[in-house]
Order: sequence, then structure tokens, then C-alpha cells
Amino acid sequence: MHFDNNGYVLEGGLDPLLLTEKYGCPLYIYETAIMKNQYDRLTKAFALPNLKINYACKALNNLAVLKFFKSLGAGLDTVSIQEVRLGLMAGFTPNEIIYTPNCVSIEEITNAVELGVRINIDNLSILEQFGSLFPQYPVCVRINPHIMAGGNSKISVGHIDSKFGISFHQTPLIHRIVKANSMKIEGIHMHTGSDILDIEVFLQGAEILFQVAEEFKDLEYIDFGSGFKVPYKEDDIQTDIEELGEKITARFTQFCSNYGKNLTLMFEPGKFLVSQAGTFLVKVNVVKQTTSTVFAGVDSGLNHLIRPMLYDSYHKIVNISKTEGRSRIYTIVGYICETDTFGVNRKLTEINEGDILAFYNAGAYCYTMSSNYNSRFRPAEVLIHDGQDYLIRRRETMEDLISNQVAVDIFD
Ligand SMILES: *Cc1c(COP(=O)(O)O)cnc(C)c1O
Repeated sequence: MHFDNNGYVLEGGLDPLLLTEKYGCPLYIYETAIMKNQYDRLTKAFALPNLKINYACKALNNLAVLKFFKSLGAGLDTVSIQEVRLGLMAGFTPNEIIYTPNCVSIEEITNAVELGVRINIDNLSILEQFGSLFPQYPVCVRINPHIMAGGNSKISVGHIDSKFGISFHQTPLIHRIVKANSMKIEGIHMHTGSDILDIEVFLQGAEILFQVAEEFKDLEYIDFGSGFKVPYKEDDIQTDIEELGEKITARFTQFCSNYGKNLTLMFEPGKFLVSQAGTFLVKVNVVKQTTSTVFAGVDSGLNHLIRPMLYDSYHKIVNISKTEGRSRIYTIVGYICETDTFGVNRKLTEINEGDILAFYNAGAYCYTMSSNYNSRFRPAEVLIHDGQDYLIRRRETMEDLISNQVAVDIFD
């Protein structure tokens, strides 16, 4: 969504207010043009013939979005067997899907083997079990380079006491297991978590990965994971993809020439590809003036968008019903019976009850983290493609809410 002479508009000039009338409120809206723009930025920044961008679908998992990324030529990054199945349903071939679970059972990994997808193993125990069960099946190993890439403690996953990956200090143990079972290691991977602020830190992690990689002789790819930060407000810092691209590309090319083989360079961004493509629209139910604060209470809450409460993340909020006139300071809160504050002391054009507010950066980790808390329905999702709107998930109903409950007649 962007602002122009006509107020807030979507791709193709579509009016978000009309979409709330058509589909109801609250509503998630995603624009494919923005996803494509982000995808193109990556393929331009990492301009190598052997580049593969695997979309991390835990960010936004609607099948229409998965199919869209497939149409762009992306692969898919998955973290559960259910995401693997969604990927297959969306039409990705097994070798276009990489499965990077953490602390899942060997049974689930066995299922992934049966489905034929690429498997990324992040601990020595599973690597050993995998080696004895499937010595012929090539795998990737997730290395923890022990870097602190930035971001907050819940989304930073590459540091020394993180549960993710196999410490690069334990590389000799990986070799022992690989040798004992005659395994083939086809990939080396790291994922340092969201919000890379400092490119130098990322490059240090990459150097560690290159060191580990040169000791494995059967590699097909090196996967640098993700963690590309996007801006949430004006002048916000973001990962400088273009600069990172230039540096990694040069270093990767040099590595491949020493290694003696043109490997594939892989990334698996989620947030970078979809965060800015999404807008969440809510309606103001109540404007409530207390002695200290003016609250705008909306028809949504932490059940639909939990990131501000879980991660203290910032979502820019605007009043799209009223784009001109004086502004006031509001605290935007949800309707859940628990404190669910979306934004404190935000300056918005004056709000009347019934106005529609828009939350920016609502593409990644918003719908996929939603719940039915307070027995509320999850919202509908709409995709904007080539200036047309498509309903890609209907709003839930009372039937959906109880569909898994099993009625027992013992209290009737
Ligand atoms: C979550 C995750 C990603 C995507 O991270 P973003 O910050 O959304 O880009 C990539 N790879 C793995 C293994 C993940 O768990």
C-alpha cells in the first residue's frame, strides 16, 4: 500500500477501503508486485548463474503466495513436514524444497525422506541416526558460526548459546559420522536469524562457513540462510542487500574457483520477500478518552497480529479513512481480554469510530502466527495481482471454530 494523490492505494490503484466493504474487516491484503520487486532485488544483488532463492514459507504460507514464488523461479524453505506438504501441493518439486527442522523426531525426518525433499540436519544426534538409516541420501548440515547478527533475542539464532545448528567447533565430529556411514554431504548451511544490521558480522559468519565447506568434497550448494532486515518506518535501518550482494558474490566466486566446482549459492528469505507486501486493515470500534490517554480500540488483537506484543515489533499505523486534517496522539489497542497494545502514542489523523486503520509490514509472521484466542475468527486474506483482487482465504466461521471438537453427550 502506498500514499498518492488519491490517498492510500494498492497496486493498480485499488482502494483498500472498498476492499474492506467487499471482504469485511479485519482483512489481510498482500501485493504480488511488492514481492516480485523484493525477489528481483535479491537476484540482481547476487548476480550469479547458480543462485537459488528459497522462499521461507513460515512467514506467509497461503498456497497462492507459494505458487506465486514458484512462478518467479524460487524454491521453498520449510521447517516442518506440514510445510513440506504445502510446498508439494503448491507444485514445487521435491528437489526444490529444503527442509530445515529443529528438534523434530527422526520419524518426521523419515517422512521427509519418503517425500524426497532436500534435508538440512542441525544436530549430531540426528545426523548419526540419519546416517545409519539412510547412508545413501545426500544431506545438508546446518552450522552454527556463533555470530550475533542483530535483532532481538527471540529472533537471533546464530549465537553461541543458541539451540540451532551444529557448532563449527564440532566439525571433526561431523566428519567422523559422515565417514563411519559413508554419507554424502551435499550442502552447508547457516541461518543467523532475523535482522542483520551489520554486513561485516554476516561476512564473518560466511568466512566460517567457507572454512567448514572446503573440507567437504561432495558439495552442491552453500546456503547462507536469511535474516535480511526490512524497514518498518521512515529512515529505519535495513540490510544493505546491494552491498552484501556485491561482497558475497565476489567471495563466493573465489571460493568456487579454489574448490574446483561451481556450487549453487542459496538463500532462504521470508521476511524480506513478503513483509512489506502485506497490509492489515482493521476497524476502530471505540475511541476512549481516559485521564491520561486516548485509546483507539480496534476489531482485532493479539489473536491476529501478535508481533508487537511478542517481539516489541513496530508496525506503522495510519488512518486510511481520513487522510487530511489535524492529527492527534493515540494508543492503538486490540479487543482481547488481555493487554494487547499495537502502538503507543502514535500520531494519526483524527480518528472517528468506524474508521479503518492500516498496519504496514503485515506480510511476514502476521497471519501465520494468528490464533483463535478469545474464540475469535481468523481474518480473510486477499491477494492483489495485476491490479485485481482475489480472495485467497475466507474468513472463519463458527463451524470452523468447533470443527475439531468432539461432542460427548455425558453432560447433556
Ligand atoms: C525463519 C527461517 C528463515 C526466514 O527468516 P527471515 O528472517 O524471515 O528471512 C530462513 N531459514 C530458516 C531455517 C528459518 O527458520
